[in-house]
Amino acid sequence: MRDFRVTALAAITRMTILALLVACDRAPAPPVVTEASAWCAALPRPANAALESVDVGSDWYTVYRVEPGVFAIVEPRQFQEAISYLIVGTTRALLFDTGIGLVPLRPTVERLTTLPVTVLNSHTHFDHVGANAEFSDILAMDTPFTRANEQGRPHADLAGEVDATSFCGAPPPGTDTAAFRARPFTVTRRIADGDSIVLGDRTLVVRAAPGHTPDALVLHDPAHGLLWTGDSYYDSTLWLFSPGTDLAAYERSIERMVALVPTLRRLLPAHNTATAEPARLTAVLEAVRTMRAGGGERTPEGAGRERVRVGDVTFMIAK
Ligand SMILES: [Zn+2]
Repeated sequence: MRDFRVTALAAITRMTILALLVACDRAPAPPVVTEASAWCAALPRPANAALESVDVGSDWYTVYRVEPGVFAIVEPRQFQEAISYLIVGTTRALLFDTGIGLVPLRPTVERLTTLPVTVLNSHTHFDHVGANAEFSDILAMDTPFTRANEQGRPHADLAGEVDATSFCGAPPPGTDTAAFRARPFTVTRRIADGDSIVLGDRTLVVRAAPGHTPDALVLHDPAHGLLWTGDSYYDSTLWLFSPGTDLAAYERSIERMVALVPTLRRLLPAHNTATAEPARLTAVLEAVRTMRAGGGERTPEGAGRERVRVGDVTFMIAK
């Protein structure tokens, strides 16, 4: 996740980009570049643009076919850039995460498959369970953290996710951002580490990966060499500062993922880009070990956080 307290940080980052853009622009009358337009100007991210896009008739969700039977459902116009995945087998489909929940997701999913859809979340931060309430078959881990998040979260906790600087362009039409909240949802079945999810011709294995949250998991497709990494890995600063984050557990979970690397072709993260290189996990493991030993370049951030850079891996942790 990136929770609401970081909106200000994202805004500062975007303002920095704006300042750089303006500073570098020597034209006598530079065009007006707003903070939001500078952020938007970087979209789509090149790794996503290289994928095959699929028209689903939505002006909020951008869909890419990552591989046969694997769709990435991206929300590029809200700063979290959350990515949900629809994995389609021969008898059913799995929806891995449901995004932030500002715009109904089910119509988009139904454009992609007519099969029954089961939902599983990479973890229960609000930006991954937002549209869970639209679905009736939901799998989840059984942790106190999960059960608390199943109750939803009030607008006051999430207001910073929907302020003017949170969007690339206008908020989605018809959305009452002042009423935005995380809706409660009902779990139909509890799952655990090692469980298999059979979609007909495709079998996925749930692997517990606590650390980012107590209920974080990754989804493994051994036959196709794919690993959906949730927020345990994505190509950007890795956020490990929220309540419930456990750095020792995170290191152990990354160790387990690294053991899979020789068999993996692709990582599918839950933010920013829908594809990443498996070897990044090895770099993260080395970096998290260095960080936990007190190393890395450390920069204080607001709200009791610090940014820790180790080589080309950056973490944001609580101080
Ligand atoms: Zn998260």
